[in-house]
Amino acid sequence: MGDRKDKSEGVTALETGVLDPVRVDRVTESRLASVDMADLAFGSVFTDHMFLMTFEDGAWRDPEIVPYGPLSLEPGVMTFHYSQSLFEGLKAYRDREGAIRLFRPEMNARRMQESCEYLAVPPLPDGAFEAALAAYLTVDAAWVPALPDHALYLRPIMFSIEPHLEVRPSDRYLFVVIGSPVGTYFGTGSKRLSLIVEETLARVAPGSGMGAAKASANYTLSLRASRQARERGYDQVIWLDGAEHRYVEEAGLMNLFAVVEGTVVTPPLDGNILPGITRDSILALLRHWGMGVEERRVDVDQLIQGIDAGRVSEVFAAGTAAVISPVGRIGRRGRDHDLPPAPEPSIANGLRKTLTDIQFGRTNDPFGWSKVVVPAETAGNPA
Ligand SMILES: *Cc1c(COP(=O)(O)O)cnc(C)c1O
Repeated sequence: MGDRKDKSEGVTALETGVLDPVRVDRVTESRLASVDMADLAFGSVFTDHMFLMTFEDGAWRDPEIVPYGPLSLEPGVMTFHYSQSLFEGLKAYRDREGAIRLFRPEMNARRMQESCEYLAVPPLPDGAFEAALAAYLTVDAAWVPALPDHALYLRPIMFSIEPHLEVRPSDRYLFVVIGSPVGTYFGTGSKRLSLIVEETLARVAPGSGMGAAKASANYTLSLRASRQARERGYDQVIWLDGAEHRYVEEAGLMNLFAVVEGTVVTPPLDGNILPGITRDSILALLRHWGMGVEERRVDVDQLIQGIDAGRVSEVFAAGTAAVISPVGRIGRRGRDHDLPPAPEPSIANGLRKTLTDIQFGRTNDPFGWSKVVVPAETAGNPA
């Protein structure tokens, strides 16, 4: 990457104030015109460019933005063998003025540093994550859609690129940012999810702490269970704790909430659960609104009994991609337990509306969560 020749005439440098000047090699022709933003399948289209930075000789160096395309890696690269691989997920939003905004990116930056700790990967220096995203978004600004509820989903990833078979932390890594324009995650957003309680598999080894890391390997572990869930006619699983198979942890790859007799309950961050930024924002909003909130362990039997007895008015899942997804049905041991019809107004819908209004800069933002990273003047012609 550092040895790529500056052949293209289009090479410029971008000053970020944090990173070394970012070398920018622009595409000669954008693919944007060929993309139908009104008809996007999640995560299937990528923008013109990608951001790359290498960890080598003890430091993160050589930031650059280059045309999106294949990476060349030897099969001996350690990430293929020992999975030192992690990622982040967040969205860039276009506001009414045309500026591009991020939602609490410092939380993603910190979580990526924490994921690095778990995986023995050298973290990015403070501020580098945000600077990389801002540089990438400046170059691919036109890819942030202007359609309602559409956004540019950002995937920062980090993985080992040292060819070596010894089992030890690698000496070389690559940090990459790619982006994919997205519409609403679960189609219309009106369909409620059906979940099945996973009775045997676990998402993470209890006590490993790995549940709190956005490690690619955690996703690998989830694949078999989610495939089985779909084969049985459910959208996703509800994970129980790996030690006792008794306490509810997450809904697939989203954090889980239940409204029990008016109080919003969600499992605590105990190392098995991914500290979702949507989760954190939901808790902050509910407390701001003066609503009852409890972070406590949720016994799956009590949850099911509560649903059957009508004490649970709503269950919903939360994460950046889909924001808030109401749950309509939970299957357990061959029986389905249906949630009542969504109350009007529902807590889930209220949260979704306020969160997305803040994310798109449509409403007052008491927490200062939404940050303009590319001003309207330089944010390109929206797609
Ligand atoms: C990313 C993720 C979430 C949601 O986190 P957000 O920051 O809200 O997007 C929830 N659970 C798992 C397992 C995740 O990987």
